Amino acid sequence: MDYGCLVAVYDRLDETSSTIEKTEIVAECFENAHDLLPVLTQLVRGRLFAPWEPDDLGVSSSLTAQAIENTTGVDEEQLESWWREAGDLGDAAAHAIESRAQTTLVSETLEIRHVYDTLRGLAEYEGPGSQERRINDIAELLANADPNEARYIVRTIVGAMRLGVGEGTIRDAIAMAFFDGSDDAVQAVERAYEVTNDFRTVSETARTEGLAGLDDLEVQLFRPVKAMLAQKAESVADALEATERPLVEYKYDGMRVMIHIQSDEVRVFTRRLGDVTVQFPDIVTAVHEEVAAENAIIEAEVVGYDPDTGSPIPFQEFSKRIKRKTNIEEMVAAYPVTVHVFDLLYHTDESLLNTPLSDRIERLETLIDQGRGTIQRATNRRLTSVDNTMSFYRDALAAGQEGIMVKNLDAVYQPGSRVGYMLKVKPMMEPLDLVVVGAKWSEGRKSNWLGRLRLACWDAEREELREVGQMFSGLTDAELREITTKLEPLIQSVEGRTAHLRPEVVIEVEYEEIQKSTTYESGYALRFPRFGGFRDDLGPEDADRFERVERLYEEQWTE
Ligand code: ATP
Repeated sequence: MDYGCLVAVYDRLDETSSTIEKTEIVAECFENAHDLLPVLTQLVRGRLFAPWEPDDLGVSSSLTAQAIENTTGVDEEQLESWWREAGDLGDAAAHAIESRAQTTLVSETLEIRHVYDTLRGLAEYEGPGSQERRINDIAELLANADPNEARYIVRTIVGAMRLGVGEGTIRDAIAMAFFDGSDDAVQAVERAYEVTNDFRTVSETARTEGLAGLDDLEVQLFRPVKAMLAQKAESVADALEATERPLVEYKYDGMRVMIHIQSDEVRVFTRRLGDVTVQFPDIVTAVHEEVAAENAIIEAEVVGYDPDTGSPIPFQEFSKRIKRKTNIEEMVAAYPVTVHVFDLLYHTDESLLNTPLSDRIERLETLIDQGRGTIQRATNRRLTSVDNTMSFYRDALAAGQEGIMVKNLDAVYQPGSRVGYMLKVKPMMEPLDLVVVGAKWSEGRKSNWLGRLRLACWDAEREELREVGQMFSGLTDAELREITTKLEPLIQSVEGRTAHLRPEVVIEVEYEEIQKSTTYESGYALRFPRFGGFRDDLGPEDADRFERVERLYEEQWTE
């Protein structure tokens, strides 16, 4: 199928702001996709990889710009000025192709699969010459593209599709294309996605095997599952009251992981579904030595401890281990870990998602050595009285942990949802995790650094980011330097001293209160926002929700 057909779909999606119409357009595209369906479920959202696949193409906006220049003969200055004007490198590419100075001798029709394979292939180049090869591959695609095709190829590369097609649209479109689009069908697709995290598998199963096939999709080893999220309880008493049969556990401040085990193979996935096995060889060794399971998926919080004092080290410090991919032995010695296990999602070739927590835990406890090794059961008690739970909560805080989790022993495991099956209790008003969508070059001595971060929360219903404030100050030089290094590659366009950024970086933000405001489109503004640290473990869709900002705004006035 020609890439031009997909471009026609993109154009139609661009022309409407109605979610229903977008869903219908995508559903129609899926119905006609035949064996290209898995590819189209990805490309229609501008995605090239499932959430858990390594997705770094190794291509920056400036590298893409270079490929555009090479193909079209347009000079750097001209391209930059179109880019600045449109605020979008895709539009600039379309301009460049239109005014192409160099004519190609042979122009081939672009096939969808060829575009998909070529773009995915960019991630695979390694070592010397890899940048050249990436530029050549992109240039080869652009040489055969018409202006509109070039626009969308470039937007896919730089990750800025902006067509308003989110996970919800894909889910509903699959339900509409292959079933009757009813709530039941949507739920079946949703469940299948929650356990697989892969629309390629879900769509193809829906097309070829129908609803029965979707129901049969299950958790699979080495394909990460979305973690179940907790709700916040205002107090220990509230948490106990809301939980029929409570299990109370320490809430550790570390990195949430799912450890997949099959015989000798062990892989460690983070909450964002990234594979961090290479960074944590100590966890792999500990699993080999301390876990007695032929196959399993175990969930745990990994905490770094100070080897001298034995106290937990703050997550910000510990997160260095997640990023470091070289000299790993050094990091293992500097930041030894304890893996506090708290759930079991899969065991002896069967999914345990529908098994009550009490049974999952009972099985989990038989798998681990209950001694003082690297792998330990999260400290827990079966408590029902407020007094005893309060004293357990104080113990957790005294041990340097974050608070407690109150879990329902009768509950099943609901991947990806913030259901009330586990409630967290922690002290003080919680900070917000927000996405950095823009920044401004600082003044004077700091003029090479990006500051004044524009912050946004995630509106899940609209599937868009909504700004809630700007962080003016309070950053140390070291933080400004780190922020600049992180944000610079994400710049999409620049207006004066203001940079618009691809929304990828999530930070924790502390603040005094939430105010109503006309300055930001969301209608809210944070008062005195302060930097609380990077949340490298979260993606933009994991940022705090708009509805939470609304709720916190309401709650701050009540006792
Ligand atoms: P927070 O910022 O409070 O950690 P969050 O948005 O990162 O919130 P939540 O799901 O709301 O995540 O809070 C639960 C988090 O607490 C889990 O994601 C997990 O990383 C962590 N955690 C620590 N100890 C436990 C435990 N014993 N059981 C479950 N989760 C735990």
